Amino acid sequence: MKVGTMFHDVSTSLFRKPVTEKYPFELREPPERLRGQLLWDPEKCTGCGLCAMDCPANAIEMIVLDRKAKRYVMAYHVDRCLFCAQCVHSCRQGCLQMSTDEWELAALNKESYTLYRGDRQDVELVLAGKVPADLAASQ
Ligand code: SF4
Ligand code: SF4
Repeated sequence: MKVGTMFHDVSTSLFRKPVTEKYPFELREPPERLRGQLLWDPEKCTGCGLCAMDCPANAIEMIVLDRKAKRYVMAYHVDRCLFCAQCVHSCRQGCLQMSTDEWELAALNKESYTLYRGDRQDVELVLAGKVPADLAASQ
């Protein structure tokens, strides 16, 4: 490259608006059909486990604490999820959907990639390992 051309490029770049985006300070509108993290509505859930069974990535554990009382905990392994939405199609109760705006899923440690959902006390029981193995209907 000629020195004159280089000087011209440098000088015009100095006064041009940057083309890079100021992420994370400026966010683009996500696409309409974006598949972000999995959302679960426990109210409609029957604990059938179909979502976990059909997930090709073993990203869902559906832990049934008490079926009659509808006490379920979902462990969602975001780092395994392929965002394929198979679980959404498999759920006959319509309680799963892919978020269209929750897509910033990076974390600083591996533990943060497992999201526990359900009643807070039930989640605490699961985390404390107080759920008998035969009640944990994962996969
Ligand atoms: S979106 Fe696909 S990979 Fe992710 S939890 Fe659902 S079935 Fe599994
Ligand atoms: S498939 Fe639906 S109803 Fe069955 S355990 Fe999964 S979320 Fe609940």
